[in-house]
Amino acid sequence: MPILDIKDLCVTYRSGAKRVRAVDHVSMEIEKGDSLGIVGESGSGKSTLAMAVLRLHDPRTTEISGQVLFEQEDLLTVSPARLKELRWKKLSVVFQKSMNSLSPVHRIGEQFEDIYRVHEPRASKEEIYKRVIHLLEMVNLAPRVYKLYPHELSGGMLQRINIALSLLFDPDLLIMDEATTALDVVTQGQILNEIKQMENQISVTRLMITHDLSVVATSCKKIIVMYAGQMMEFGYVRDVLSNPLHPYTRGLIQSFPSLHGEKSALKSIPGSLPDLADPPGGCIFAARCPNATPRCFQERPAERRMSEVHKVACHLYDGGEGA
Ligand code: SF4
Repeated sequence: MPILDIKDLCVTYRSGAKRVRAVDHVSMEIEKGDSLGIVGESGSGKSTLAMAVLRLHDPRTTEISGQVLFEQEDLLTVSPARLKELRWKKLSVVFQKSMNSLSPVHRIGEQFEDIYRVHEPRASKEEIYKRVIHLLEMVNLAPRVYKLYPHELSGGMLQRINIALSLLFDPDLLIMDEATTALDVVTQGQILNEIKQMENQISVTRLMITHDLSVVATSCKKIIVMYAGQMMEFGYVRDVLSNPLHPYTRGLIQSFPSLHGEKSALKSIPGSLPDLADPPGGCIFAARCPNATPRCFQERPAERRMSEVHKVACHLYDGGEGA
C-alpha cells in the first residue's frame, strides 16, 4: 500500500477574474521508503504540488480538488488539529530558503528545544540534547554547533541544520523543495551523499522537488517529469534517464550537461511554457514538441503504462498517429 497516494489533484490559483491551473489532474503513488524526484522547469507545478500535499495554500485564493491520501487519511480534508499533529511528526518539509527561517538571536540548540517542546512539552533538556546531537551527527555537524548562533554557520551548515530539524520527530515522509538549490555544487554533493547515508539509518520516504536533473540522478530512485502542471513521465530514474520516452523528458535531458559520458552540445527546448490562465487544448506540450501531429493539438494524451512502473502521457505510445 502506498504511503502517499495522490488522486486526480488539481490546484487553481484565483486572482480577481483570473484563474491559473497550476496542477492539472495529477495522480501518483509513492511507496514507503521510496525517494522520488519531481523535476520540470519553473512553472511546471512542482512546488505547488508539494504545498498542496502539506495543505499550505491560502484557501481564499486557491481551489484544490482531488485527494492526497497519506497513510489512507486525506490531507485535504482532515481537521486543522489533525493536520497540525501530522506535520512535523509524520510529515516534514525543507524549503530552499529554510536557513532564513532560523532566528538570528537564539542559539541553534535553543531553537531545536523550542520546537521540540511545542510538540513534546514534558521532554527533559537532556532528552532533547541527546536527540539533537544524534541528528547533528547524522547530517555531519559537530556537537559544538548546538551552542552556536546562525550567523556563525555557513549556508551549507544552516541547510544541514534545517534537514536535522525536519527529522526531529522521525517523520515518515520528508519533502525537500529545492532544498539544495542555493548551495554551491560541492556542498550540494556532500549534502546529497549525507541524505543517502542517513536513509540507510532511518526509515523515511523522500519527495525531492528540483529543477536539477543531476540531483535526481544522484539521490533518487524514481522520477516524475512535470510540465505546465501535468505529469509527462514517471518511472525508475535509471529507466527514464537512460531511455526517456516523452519528448519533453528528452528535451530536458538534452538541455542539461551530462555528468558522465561524452561531452555533447546542450540544446534548449524552443519556446516557453503556455499561459496557464488560458491553456491550449490538446497536449499541453504540443506547441514546443518536435513530434507533434495535428491530433496532438486537439486531444489531451492519456497516461500509458509502458512497464510495471514506467508511465508516459503522449500520443506516440497509444497506437495513434504519433510521429
Ligand atoms: Fe508531442 Fe504529441 Fe506527445 Fe504531446 S502528445 S508530447 S505533442 S507527440
